[in-house]
Amino acid sequence: MNKDIATPMRTREILHKYGFSFKKSLGQNFLIDTNILRRIVDFAELSSETGVIEIGPGIGALTEQLARRAKKVVAFEIDQRLLPILEDTLSSYSNVHIIHQDVLKADIQHVIDNELIGIRDIMVVANLPYYVTTPIIMKLLTDRLPIRGMVVMLQKEVADRISAQPGTKDYGSLSIAIQYYTKAETVMTVPRTVFIPQPNVDSAVIRLTKREKPLVNVENELFFFQVVRASFGQRRKTILNNLMSNLPNGKSLKKEIETVLAELHIDPRRRGETLSIDEFASLSNQLWTIFA
Ligand code: SAM
Repeated sequence: MNKDIATPMRTREILHKYGFSFKKSLGQNFLIDTNILRRIVDFAELSSETGVIEIGPGIGALTEQLARRAKKVVAFEIDQRLLPILEDTLSSYSNVHIIHQDVLKADIQHVIDNELIGIRDIMVVANLPYYVTTPIIMKLLTDRLPIRGMVVMLQKEVADRISAQPGTKDYGSLSIAIQYYTKAETVMTVPRTVFIPQPNVDSAVIRLTKREKPLVNVENELFFFQVVRASFGQRRKTILNNLMSNLPNGKSLKKEIETVLAELHIDPRRRGETLSIDEFASLSNQLWTIFA
């Protein structure tokens, strides 16, 4: 077996050999702790039949651990300077395919159809670039890809928001959007000392397991998310005021919104953060009859 990339010494050796300088703007914080990487891979429950999509392989620290356990790893890397490095560090793994592309612009379904042909179990595993964690996760979910789920490292503060429950300060439209599509758990917190360079924030690993069907039934998904975002518009405002201010023509539909809230036994003075996802679903389904 090859020497692990994710040790402080080997990582420094590789960076030095290629004269690589980190780009903060690309969220480049590389992991230098093999035990943490192995635990991330454990949480993904890979088998020799699993296909993995990785985002941001860096110098290949996580990629090599994935390649040892999965059937194939396809990794998207935006930074061209890392391509020759990856070619070198991962040269002994024939089951890795690197794509030089911004993952946010990628047609991931097309990549799955071409690179993971015939593979039925697909997981996303990544140490995400922190400046774009939320757009990446939302894209992977809203693209409706045939994945089992994701195990990803991100800022602890974002992990807290993703897995938050109603009535807590972290609960908001991000918690609802992600819990609508997946079962979300924070499985590990990670200190900043295991990266070079060290980030300014602590990190966490979350596991998102895709639901067979969304958590609640909604008439119109776009409108459901619009109602959720409207309800959290200003956190200190009541649900009634937020809906009136943030839905189109909300002010002129005050009476109708009040009637819907009364029918659903939702006190108009409650704040958005106290509503469960079930309540948001019923609310958006009723409001849809007015706003459609
Ligand atoms: N996986 C490596 C590790 O754990 O050490 C590196 C993780 S580092 C936090 C994030 C990586 O994502 C960097 O290699 C960066 O160049 C890459 N990256 C940043 N933005 C990206 C994007 N939009 N699409 C693809 N890769 C991106």
